Amino acid sequence: MATSDNELFRVEELERLIVHHQNLYYNAQPEISDEEFDSLWQELEDLDPDNSLLRRVGPDNAQGWGKARHLIPMGSQSKASDPEEFRAWAQKSALPFFLVQYKMDGASLEIQYEAGVFLKAVTRGDGTIGDDISRNVLSMKGVVVKIPDGFSGGVRGEVLMSRETHRLKYPEKANCRNAANGLMKRKDGTGSEDLEFICYDARGLCTDTGKSPFDDEISKLEWLRRAGFTVVRTEVLQGIDAVVEYRGKVMAQRPTLPFDIDGLVVKSPQIDEEDLEKPRPEKQIAFKFNPEEAVTILKEIVWNESGALYTPIGIVAPVKLAGTTVQRANLCNPDMIRQMNLKLGSKVVITKRGEIIPKIEVLVENGPDVKDIPQPSLCRRCATTLVDEGSRLFCPNELCPNKELHRIEKWISILEIRDFGAALVRKLHAQGLVKSISDLYLLEQKDLLGLERMGETLSLKLLHNLRKKNEIDMADYIAAFDIDNVGPLVARKLVDGGLDTLEALFNADTERLVAINGIGEIMAITIQNGLKAIRPEMEKVLAKGYVRLRRAISKSPLAGKKICFTGELNGMSRAEASALARKGGGVVKNSVTTDLDYLVTDDSSTGSSKNKKAKELGIPILTGPEFLAIARSES
Ligand SMILES: [Zn+2]
Repeated sequence: MATSDNELFRVEELERLIVHHQNLYYNAQPEISDEEFDSLWQELEDLDPDNSLLRRVGPDNAQGWGKARHLIPMGSQSKASDPEEFRAWAQKSALPFFLVQYKMDGASLEIQYEAGVFLKAVTRGDGTIGDDISRNVLSMKGVVVKIPDGFSGGVRGEVLMSRETHRLKYPEKANCRNAANGLMKRKDGTGSEDLEFICYDARGLCTDTGKSPFDDEISKLEWLRRAGFTVVRTEVLQGIDAVVEYRGKVMAQRPTLPFDIDGLVVKSPQIDEEDLEKPRPEKQIAFKFNPEEAVTILKEIVWNESGALYTPIGIVAPVKLAGTTVQRANLCNPDMIRQMNLKLGSKVVITKRGEIIPKIEVLVENGPDVKDIPQPSLCRRCATTLVDEGSRLFCPNELCPNKELHRIEKWISILEIRDFGAALVRKLHAQGLVKSISDLYLLEQKDLLGLERMGETLSLKLLHNLRKKNEIDMADYIAAFDIDNVGPLVARKLVDGGLDTLEALFNADTERLVAINGIGEIMAITIQNGLKAIRPEMEKVLAKGYVRLRRAISKSPLAGKKICFTGELNGMSRAEASALARKGGGVVKNSVTTDLDYLVTDDSSTGSSKNKKAKELGIPILTGPEFLAIARSES
């Protein structure tokens, strides 16, 4: 029941939206996807369950049917709503082959057989007990009355209404699923002949053999087909990528399919009875479509310049995605284009998923007219040959004007120096007045007054704003120099990891950098090279006093400490302890060496070689609790 004014307002809005989109849908010009429509419907149901709009087109009243118990357990299914979630499940499942089926969007039904003869048909109900709607089911298409092998058991499938039937005969129903749900439960049985049963599962035994007539999913489907059923579209695919790609293809075909589907069901080709008994079987998942995905055509690539980096942006045929029209999609780097085999003209799936710019997720297909994607080979600013590292395409020239300009812009943005807009900075850079960060601080009023549309007041204000920002955090300082791979987040990690002075930062070797959580070896090398190149400028800006560093407020006592764990650790796993040490900026070592700062163990009395060696070298030995106390303290 809608209670507050806000809710009442929203209910009225939802009513208007639903009527509006229903009309469009029946005039074959839908503006929103089925999922989006369903979510409006669901929201109205939640806010105002008694709303007359719901009654008018919602499921018909199903009271008065007898109840019956299911033979096949109907638990809930795990769900993945995007490739990332699916990959996580698939990796865990470790299945080499996947059975992939259309997930039909209808009403679930179990038909029960006794010695090969139709006994009854039961709706989903609460998953254990449903309505016995046998009478209506017998007039549906695809329902078989007599099946072979004297089979006793259940056949599971979906009751569906085709899109064609929905359009022609039941346009007043919200969608095919609602229509099927309502019709199959009608007491007078009218309309059941417009419904169809498509099945995907069976479980039971043959009378003569006492055994199941099939032993895996494929033979099960073959048996169902032989028995006369319509079986859901099924593929067996090898590998995770194949499933993600197949899903893209199905998404593209979806508008032309005769029935609504809302995703794929992916499962093991083997039957695992034990798994099926679980409330949520682990060897299957519903890989659903979602409203933040769409299929479109990649028309063009624009290589966006930002500092030294050249980033490919895909221009796609305009498409609706979660209510907004999308024309650009991020492609991240050249590797992504190659790995997905993208071409100009490729049909692709793009997804949004909370990102600001949608991303091209997977290739659907390359038609015969596709063309290779051109990639720039020279820097547009300095004509240096670009370096294609796969994960990034960039101009390697440290003196490239693009890089200079980007660094100055970065400095101004991180220090939040006001009134230095992008246009002004570009002008200063183009005229050669400011080519580095320290140049900024050499600006005089007369330099500024020489610029177009620059008055006395503004020039003074600019210089004032610049000099006012004269104290800065170490992390901001590092980030403001626009070093490759070092954004504000990484800069913060470096400082928190103990590299909180310029000296510590410049002296950090690869191992020291890798010890910081989230920094890998390749990244560490890039950071080192970047630091080396910019070091004179970083030192100059401080030495000349253009800005000074704010004193670090706190520092982890483990920062930079070399620590080795051995033996028992009371109440803490070795992995947990190592993670804690790294988090505090410590370096975890596997052996006891002269430069080790701490050996941590709870049984220092044992004569283990590490214990012995640490004692010999005079290295402090800490117990687990002592280590914890240090790790959690702040000096
Ligand atoms: Zn360049």
